[in-house]
Amino acid sequence: MDVRNCKSCGKMFNYIGHALCPQCMSALEDKFQEVKAYIQDNPSANVTQVAEETEVSVHQLKKWVREERLSFSDSSLVGLNCEKCGKLIKTGRFCELCKQSLGNALAESIKPSPAEQIIAKRKKQNTKMHFLDNH
Ligand SMILES: [Zn+2]
Ligand SMILES: [Zn+2]
Repeated sequence: MDVRNCKSCGKMFNYIGHALCPQCMSALEDKFQEVKAYIQDNPSANVTQVAEETEVSVHQLKKWVREERLSFSDSSLVGLNCEKCGKLIKTGRFCELCKQSLGNALAESIKPSPAEQIIAKRKKQNTKMHFLDNH
């Protein structure tokens, strides 16, 4: 049996894959429902406001949003930033555009810096010259 300390209250509990004990898990779930209801009632509230009103950390709120459990309405002025281009999004980690381009070209998700691009270009030229030499 795997017994651990709860990350929230410090109590020992039987670990079943969550960092929190069953009591804290259900308390967090209650909080989640509270936050969800608050956002529904206050669609224009931003993350900070929601955090203050529901006494949930911004970190936790963002976690829920990233997990796509929570989403801010279109009328909300503040949401999250796309992890790739920084565009304002309401849920998840990337904007629709980036989601698409990530789906199409995973390799291009991180653009090389200009210096890296020059090196890559040079490498290409080198192989080309090499190829010509061999000819
Ligand atoms: Zn606990
Ligand atoms: Zn984006």
